[in-house]
Amino acid sequence: MTYRGRFAPSPTGSLHFGSLVAAVGSWLCARHAGGEWLVRVEDVDPPREVPGSARTILRTLTAFGLHPDAPPVFQSTRHAAYEETLDRLRAQDHVFPCWCSRMDLVPAGGLHRDGHCVAAPDPARPPAWRIRVPDTVVTFDDALQGRQSQSLRDDVGDFVLRRVEGYWAYQLACVVDDAAQGITEVVRGADLLDSTPRQIWLQTLLGVATPRYMHLPLVTDAQGRKLSKSAADLPVDARDPLPALRLAIAQLGMPVSGMAGSPEDLLRHALRDFDPATLRRSSHPYG
Ligand code: GLU
Repeated sequence: MTYRGRFAPSPTGSLHFGSLVAAVGSWLCARHAGGEWLVRVEDVDPPREVPGSARTILRTLTAFGLHPDAPPVFQSTRHAAYEETLDRLRAQDHVFPCWCSRMDLVPAGGLHRDGHCVAAPDPARPPAWRIRVPDTVVTFDDALQGRQSQSLRDDVGDFVLRRVEGYWAYQLACVVDDAAQGITEVVRGADLLDSTPRQIWLQTLLGVATPRYMHLPLVTDAQGRKLSKSAADLPVDARDPLPALRLAIAQLGMPVSGMAGSPEDLLRHALRDFDPATLRRSSHPYG
């Protein structure tokens, strides 16, 4: 099967340095394998969305020489596919409506493990839709982080697929779209490592293929603190891409000395030296 990778930013602000590393890492892995690289805008969370940021992110990727092989897909256009998936899961009795508040879940340590709603149904309010998880440990081999295991029941609980406000949860939208786009390799930041078992389990339930996963170390500052995803700390400058691009390539463990030219030239140069086996498992301080 042809390698098909992707970069899936959420439009919650400008592209920041940590996301640039994920974009460059997924691009390098895809191009190294002679595969395709797609971009998907994960705009399913309107309250967190910053107006105009999807366009800014896409423009920034272009300025950095990161050109996808197909026009970007916007998750806000994919409601019908998510709805159809939820309907299927409902018909198979895997999901249940839930009116639980955070307070209702406090006795269970914040997790929902009952397989049904523990609050009283309230016909006056729309419910969230949760999926019932089995008492299963999901194990997978991450291409960089090695073997990972998570107990769905003990560590995650019955998780939300559609929120009370009607918004689609990241887990559902991501799984439906990775499958619809035929993604074979997911390369993303290690902050999403603990979402992967849920996604693998959903893929199995839905009968779709599980991609291979590689989680890149998070970028930390010199004190070893992780840079928050939406922090405007370090937005990368689309008007001056070379410094940030050099740092992103260095963050992935490659030498950058002597790299000059356009962003496309730098990426081509990095690709020549790139070997996924030499990617670093742990983070490298930024700055
Ligand atoms: N949209 C997610 C984020 O920006 C990434 C999703 C993914 O790569 O699976 O955190």
